[in-house]
Amino acid sequence: MNAVVAERDFLAFAAAALGVDAAALALDSSRDAGAWDSVGHLNLVMELEARWGVKIPLARVPELKTLRDFHAHVPCRPAKALAVDADNTLWRGIVSEDGPDGVVPDADFQRGLLALKARGVFLVLLSKNDPPPGGAISSVFARPDNPLGLSDFAHVGVNWEPKPGNLLAAARALNLAPEHFVFLDDNPHERVQMRAHLPGVMVPDFDAREGTVPATVLEELGKVQFSGVGETREDFLRTDWRPLAATRPDYLASLGLKVRVARATAADVPRLAQMAGKTNQFNATTIRRTAAEFEALLADAGTEVWTFRARDKFGDMGLVCYVVRESSTGRVTDFVVSCRALGRTLEHFAAQKLGFRTFDFVPTAKNAPARAFLDALRSGDVRTFYEEEA
Ligand SMILES: [Mg+2]
Repeated sequence: MNAVVAERDFLAFAAAALGVDAAALALDSSRDAGAWDSVGHLNLVMELEARWGVKIPLARVPELKTLRDFHAHVPCRPAKALAVDADNTLWRGIVSEDGPDGVVPDADFQRGLLALKARGVFLVLLSKNDPPPGGAISSVFARPDNPLGLSDFAHVGVNWEPKPGNLLAAARALNLAPEHFVFLDDNPHERVQMRAHLPGVMVPDFDAREGTVPATVLEELGKVQFSGVGETREDFLRTDWRPLAATRPDYLASLGLKVRVARATAADVPRLAQMAGKTNQFNATTIRRTAAEFEALLADAGTEVWTFRARDKFGDMGLVCYVVRESSTGRVTDFVVSCRALGRTLEHFAAQKLGFRTFDFVPTAKNAPARAFLDALRSGDVRTFYEEEA
């Protein structure tokens, strides 16, 4: 996956959340090694949500040991659409009270949105107002001093209905999931409602004093939530989910990627079941096998379960890929790569190592990365930067 927050930006964020000097931190800084305490731990979790809208399920919080573990939650959430409120967000003032000529457009903020749009981000308007074309809000978008026009929005949800329903309608219209959306609204109540109804949506908090969105909010959106979005929509569509090997060989070569391959044992079962239950992006058939089902597979002489443990110069990623295949036919029924290992050609290594040229694939709303690799594999476009170790 190519939406990775730059390490430097992430470390600066973590240092601010922990109240320490960024120079004292590295991605492999760990709580166990005393780099922060339990209060800092919670601060990191809360800041991730408050500033970047990245929500980590509470049950997973204790699993986070190093800054790399936290960092891994950010690239799992590449945003593609930005849903924005209008009143006191795009302009100072309220159309239904101040009238379409009485509001003051925030031209800088709107131009920032246009820059995101030029990079391929879908803009969505979510506003409680009378709907266009009759509603007064249309007149604001027609003003020459208002940089955004209604036609700049890929979807317009202007009515008096709750915003989560309007966001879902936008997601359906754009063929996206709520997880692909960032929602910006000056009203804390709207943010709370969005989080409560659609926990997948990224909802950054900000202080919209005097009806303007702080410049740092857009700056961070560009660097964090939309970091994977290309320079143009064409680039974005072409490069989205493409294997990274084609574009970043120097970077991948510098990582010192190592992998250990083994048949699964009983000790691997909890991790296998966890991956089966949680992995969405690179999950070829999304068979949600339970621990009991994996135990049955291990006992079945006709089935092979292969595990791949990866590490790089920054540390050990552990078991991050597994393959289930039928021994007699070679048919691959399960092929799963953890989100944290995506974009580093581990899937290429697995296919080469086990010698398969195709695998079962069942499309879902989220597993485009597996589809992209299937296409690459079938066309022979396979190149790995992993080296096997014993
Ligand atoms: Mg508002």
